[in-house]
Amino acid sequence: MEQVDILGVFAHPDDAELSVGGTLIKLKKLGYRTGVLDVTRGEMGTRGTVEGRAAEAQAAARLLGLDTRENLGLRDGHVFSDEVSRVAMVRALRRLKPRVVLTHQQGDSHPDHDAIASVIRQCSRLAAMTKFDPETSSERIQPPIIAHNIFSRRSSISFIVDISGELDAKMEAIAAHASQFYDPGSTEPETMLTSSTYLDEVSSRAKYYGSLIGCAAGEPYFVAEALNVDDPFALLSRPMNLYS
Ligand SMILES: [Zn+2]
Repeated sequence: MEQVDILGVFAHPDDAELSVGGTLIKLKKLGYRTGVLDVTRGEMGTRGTVEGRAAEAQAAARLLGLDTRENLGLRDGHVFSDEVSRVAMVRALRRLKPRVVLTHQQGDSHPDHDAIASVIRQCSRLAAMTKFDPETSSERIQPPIIAHNIFSRRSSISFIVDISGELDAKMEAIAAHASQFYDPGSTEPETMLTSSTYLDEVSSRAKYYGSLIGCAAGEPYFVAEALNVDDPFALLSRPMNLYS
């Protein structure tokens, strides 16, 4: 199993692209090892099949430039903070050893998203404890920092990643999940995601967050812990939109 610097942990096979696709593409360009852990196979989705969605996820992984993408195989629509999900998540973290995790925000309206945001916070600590899951405790890790992508709930913003150069590639990676989005030829039922305007909304959202920092597109994050800044000048001298 390949170790990564940054790991996206999201509920369904297209969530990473929709939430943090631009950030993952940018991190790869910067030379980091990137991965995505999809927690479920998306079998509750109105459209698409498990096999089809897995193939789409791998196609999207190539567009994101991921070093690895795996699926934890928990039940879609039934993710809870329980023993099964904690052990599975701790083992994945111990294998992949990310320093940074990108994930959903707590309180998200989708119960799987909300549960995963909490499970990953718990497991980042549990994965560091020697006596948790003794079978894998020799591989215990330092707890990774968790950055929650701000998506469906208002939240204070800790930082926004400039994805001006990555927005087009992000949208291509999203489009690789062809079964999930607008397809005028599809005979499957309509959902909120399959309307002709949904992908415009995704792109408009990125442009809005970009406008807050004076660039063309951005992806916003919340970090619960105080950030440790080594070079405040490098951080604070970045361009920002002083008129927003
Ligand atoms: Zn989802």
